[in-house]
Amino acid sequence: MSLLALSGLTAFYGSSQALFGVDLTVGEGEVVALMGRNGMGKTTTVRAICRMIVSKGGLTFAGRDLHGLPSHAVARLGIGLVPEGRRCFADLTVRENLVAAARPGPWDEARVGDLFPRLAERRGQRARTLSGGEQQMLAIGRALMTNPRLVILDEATEGLAPLVRAEIWAAVARLKIETGMAILVIDKSVRDLARVSDRAVILERGATVWSGGINELTPAISETYVGV
Ligand code: ATP
Repeated sequence: MSLLALSGLTAFYGSSQALFGVDLTVGEGEVVALMGRNGMGKTTTVRAICRMIVSKGGLTFAGRDLHGLPSHAVARLGIGLVPEGRRCFADLTVRENLVAAARPGPWDEARVGDLFPRLAERRGQRARTLSGGEQQMLAIGRALMTNPRLVILDEATEGLAPLVRAEIWAAVARLKIETGMAILVIDKSVRDLARVSDRAVILERGATVWSGGINELTPAISETYVGV
């Protein structure tokens, strides 16, 4: 059984329909890339999963129907979100940001510091004074502190310099290999996604148009649907 399963998911912003039938699964220990051009519904899908917008259709996590649950209950069930734009508490320190998110489990401040030594070095620093890359590390660390079963990374490396991007991808690879964490990841770089993912799901105009193993994602398919 899949950990996360969406089937025929639809969603609206007011009267404007944004999702027209998203089919997507993430199994235990699986890394799934959610792809598609700008505006095709990736972030809206994430918002629907986290119950930040109303949706209809199949939406289950660990066998539980997520419809009707508030966002904080979805988080408590074990979905850790790293939102687009990071959204750390700017005036809190690194440590305070992490501690505020903490829930019992194997992930604690020390383990996050081991994954991102730069965060450990800056634990007393206010989030607003961190670089973009460090803020993204903090956003990932904060999601891990909730001890999730699934982490969702919306725009994993957006706006980051190549070296920092490589650090983020290395951390994602470590999460996969060392912890077997289930991960749903969105990013502009198909090449980077292909390195860490087991499967890909492609959205076009709010609907799933392709899904398959990462090795089946040919250049022709990515060119058609993702534009690279
Ligand atoms: P991007 O890579 O640009 O973030 P995306 O694939 O994540 O794109 P979404 O942000 O999910 O796409 O947008 C899907 C559709 O929903 C688009 O047509 C977008 O204009 C619309 N949309 C997104 N957010 C809102 C909103 N808050 N209100 C109204 N429409 C929205």
